[in-house]
Amino acid sequence: MDEERRTLPYECRRCWHVWQEDYVVRHFADAHGNEVDIWLRGGVQVPPPASGVMICPKCGCQQATTFPDGYLARHPELIPPPRPAEPDATPLLSPVRKRMYKG
Ligand SMILES: [Zn+2]
Repeated sequence: MDEERRTLPYECRRCWHVWQEDYVVRHFADAHGNEVDIWLRGGVQVPPPASGVMICPKCGCQQATTFPDGYLARHPELIPPPRPAEPDATPLLSPVRKRMYKG
């Protein structure tokens, strides 16, 4: 048995909430040699994401869509930060550079 961890990004078509779900995919071969994938989320078997049934954790609607693999890796700004950003401790510096006068 082959097991693979997958993290799939979702986007709600109603409220545009973006989130990710962690899955474990188990690959089996059936008696005919066909590959069968079992999708688990939190140890519970769930329908494959391709079936398109995913409930938005924010608004509860069922119109979530998946991104292509690797989409969020190219758009990290879509992933909500896990906690509020800490205030920037860097002191504000004027962007205007001091003029250098030459004798
Ligand atoms: Zn939603």
